[in-house]
Amino acid sequence: MQAWLESIHARARSRLGSGRVASYIPALAEQDPERLGFAVCTNDGTLYAAGDAETPFSIQSIAKVLLLTLALRVHGEALWQRVGLNPSGMPFNSLAQLEAERGKPRNPFINAGAIAVTDRLVSAFATPDKHLQDVARRLAGNARILIDDEVLDSEWQHRSRNAAMAYLMKAFGNLDNDVDEVLRTYFSCCALAMSCTDLAVAMNFLAADGEARAMGERFVSPGLTRRINAIMATCGMYDAAGDFAYRVGLPAKSGVGGGIVAVVPGRMTVCAWSPALDDNGNSVAAQYALELFAEELDPAGISVP
Ligand code: GLN
Repeated sequence: MQAWLESIHARARSRLGSGRVASYIPALAEQDPERLGFAVCTNDGTLYAAGDAETPFSIQSIAKVLLLTLALRVHGEALWQRVGLNPSGMPFNSLAQLEAERGKPRNPFINAGAIAVTDRLVSAFATPDKHLQDVARRLAGNARILIDDEVLDSEWQHRSRNAAMAYLMKAFGNLDNDVDEVLRTYFSCCALAMSCTDLAVAMNFLAADGEARAMGERFVSPGLTRRINAIMATCGMYDAAGDFAYRVGLPAKSGVGGGIVAVVPGRMTVCAWSPALDDNGNSVAAQYALELFAEELDPAGISVP
């Protein structure tokens, strides 16, 4: 397995010249486009890593999976009164659909949807961002996971578009809490810095019927795990969800920090990271690494639990 992952890493390096690092906030524009990390966590807890797998990066939209999971744990099916369940076919930061659909975002993995989900957590917890950070630490078994204040401040300074979505939802009665408080909480969660190994371990509950090994407990039910994986499969890669499903075929979630987490249900989680993105905001080299991984997982005769 280790030699195979090294080979995937080496081949994915050929894509490092393509794509562009996110530039909508200065803090992310400074990332080194030559970085490439890859990690796998199998359901028996074995961890494999290649390249820059231990380097923390900004998880950005990958946080939307944790936000959704916590909101479903607290609010259950009532959450779907606030946010829809279907692919948007639009860029993750589009405002057009939100206006047409009277302030109800298409799904929890576009920005508007994640902001609506964050509003539900602001109603439920005194300090939802600290709570999410604590959950991320316990899921990953790493108490050193931090919120990157520079990324958070940068996001806050350049919040106009996300603020426009939040105010539009507020105008339609779909946000209960103060817009600034909801946005700040959302940005804090996106600004969590985690490595490929952190994310592969933390998200392993999605491959293991909700059992979080590092936490030592069941985090969510098998039914909820299946539903979250379904939403990742249909909406996790924004408007490229269909292309990614065709090429990789695994539930996944990307972020503009360049990370992508994918789930092989019943077997393992994978995280690939490289900062340069394609036009949809998904990492070019990380997508290619996952494509090689999915293509070769079984033909390579890899024997894993
Ligand atoms: N924090 C980013 C934003 O709100 C997250 C977007 C992303 O990773 N696609 O724009």
